Amino acid sequence: MIIVKFSLIGLGLTGLSLYAKTLSEKDINDGPYIFFDKKNNIENSNVFQLQAEALSICDGQVFNLFFSLKIGNQIDFCGESFEFSYAKPKSDPIDIRGDFQIAALSDIHGQFDLFIQLLKNNQIIDSQRRWNFGDGHLVITGDVFDRGDQVTEALWYLYDLEKQAERSGGKLHLLLGNHEVMVLNGDLRYLNKKYQVSSQLFAQSFEKLYSQNTILGEWLRQKNVLVKINQFLFAHGGFHPDLARQKFSLEKINQLFKQSLVAQELKTKRSELEYYLHKTNGPIWYRGYFNENGASEDEINLLLNHFKVTNIIVGHTSYPTIETRFDGKIIAIDSSMKKGKYAEILLYKENKLFRGTLSGKILALE
Ligand code: ZN
Repeated sequence: MIIVKFSLIGLGLTGLSLYAKTLSEKDINDGPYIFFDKKNNIENSNVFQLQAEALSICDGQVFNLFFSLKIGNQIDFCGESFEFSYAKPKSDPIDIRGDFQIAALSDIHGQFDLFIQLLKNNQIIDSQRRWNFGDGHLVITGDVFDRGDQVTEALWYLYDLEKQAERSGGKLHLLLGNHEVMVLNGDLRYLNKKYQVSSQLFAQSFEKLYSQNTILGEWLRQKNVLVKINQFLFAHGGFHPDLARQKFSLEKINQLFKQSLVAQELKTKRSELEYYLHKTNGPIWYRGYFNENGASEDEINLLLNHFKVTNIIVGHTSYPTIETRFDGKIIAIDSSMKKGKYAEILLYKENKLFRGTLSGKILALE
């Protein structure tokens, strides 16, 4: 193991150190969690260099590795080459129009293998796991975190896929779900046991592994809570009719939500409205399209008219397959991937919506 690590000096790492603590949890591989020191940010026209530290767990042992962050990076992770490209994350637009295919899925919940299988069988990615959706837009309506034990894999994969999509003229829209927001805020109730152990091995609280000075933490903090693509509006939970009655714009909802994302990082307390958006009736928790006492037909129409869309597409409320409510105006795309057995993807092509099954069969959306 040590020999493998020192051989990395030849790959251009400017500094390298490692240590290993012998611990009992031998089965755990996790990471890398990459931290950078923002104070050492040296930025000019072409050179982008930050000192970074990668923390990993390999067979239950903690390793750290110092290196200079570049645009393209190759570091060691448990004896294998781990490649990633770094770019300062930018906020994605939330109102997009264009003539392209759309695909959407939700609630990966650490089920990385199933997620990959679903994308492959529906030709969103190829057999090498590379973006294969051309100028298409793939929307993931939140909840990559919690429950399952392949969260880190899923996040790094999405981090990379996003860049691949852009190079092809397409786009990956990763929206925040309640589980992203919970973890960033240190609410770790649904953390898989593996990550509880990781956190103990690293001797830091799990949310610190996604703090502002980590690559994935910085990236997640730029993510939106909603996106409108042509006639479709996406969010993790949904939009309470009051938001339409009070004539809130999507820009305002997204802005207020994001500026109050992590409570402990705020200089002042969340405002009443920010608090509302982060609680039960806000876009990441709302379930009112599926409750007996939830939104009425009139309220759904009010929402659609106000936001100028024909459909609202949400995750968060799980069903065995993709389902619709209110004559298809509401589409529920959390098809229970969290159970690790089955999942579907919503597809929009040639002006029609379809369900893509796990095996890649295309079914009409009822
Ligand atoms: Zn959720």
